Amino acid sequence: MMNETKIDWAEMSWNPVTGCYHGCPYCYARRTAHRFDAGMEDPTPLPGGLHVLDHKIKATPYPYGFEPTMHRYRLDQPERQTEGRTVFVCSMADLFGRWVPTKWICDVLDACQRAPQHRYLFLTKNPARYLELDHLALLPHSENFWYGSTVANMDAVGMYPMPHANINTFWSMEPLLGPVDMDAAEGLPAWVILGAETGNRKGKVIPKREWVDQLAAFCAENEIPVFYKGNLREHFPDLPASALPWEV
Ligand code: SF4
Repeated sequence: MMNETKIDWAEMSWNPVTGCYHGCPYCYARRTAHRFDAGMEDPTPLPGGLHVLDHKIKATPYPYGFEPTMHRYRLDQPERQTEGRTVFVCSMADLFGRWVPTKWICDVLDACQRAPQHRYLFLTKNPARYLELDHLALLPHSENFWYGSTVANMDAVGMYPMPHANINTFWSMEPLLGPVDMDAAEGLPAWVILGAETGNRKGKVIPKREWVDQLAAFCAENEIPVFYKGNLREHFPDLPASALPWEV
């Protein structure tokens, strides 16, 4: 089923694919998956440590831990939810990771297209995959599809030749790990999310106020709405109100 989410910029999360090989040190999804990992053996694993499940496993949503898994039985869930919601797709994976079979991605995008009552938010650390799919005419340009890229610091900015004029894009700058000069990017997103790292990881980065103010000023100048996450407001309670681009 689709789940209510604590993520404050979406209403539901939906995870037809779980698991990720990026290995980010601050990953909450990996911690969660390992907590529920039943250590099951897959009788028919795919090459590359990938798994496909046709039926729900009652004991745990993560039978193969954080190894990439397609949960095929979840693909009809958006259709079954008739009331339109804002859905974060694959909060427990990177659906566009380079290891994900194109067929899996297409199956998820098709499921979204079959349920146009919802708004879909995708997020990746591998936006090159958006471009690859787009070149193959496999990336829907629907108005209710939002393609997000994680930009934690300047290292990521050079990776983002998005957006195309005719698709909705956003940057999730969460966790913000350093100053970011958005002016250095090739294309600007239509929306920005700013957030801080949660948890108590050794080496956790607390964003500096000047990083946030600089981004806020750039976005104001370029008319880009900004959503300030609750975990950033904990550090800076006086931040301005958040904006969602479909409400502006
Ligand atoms: S990309 Fe996301 S899901 Fe993958 S390891 Fe990093 S934080 Fe976790």
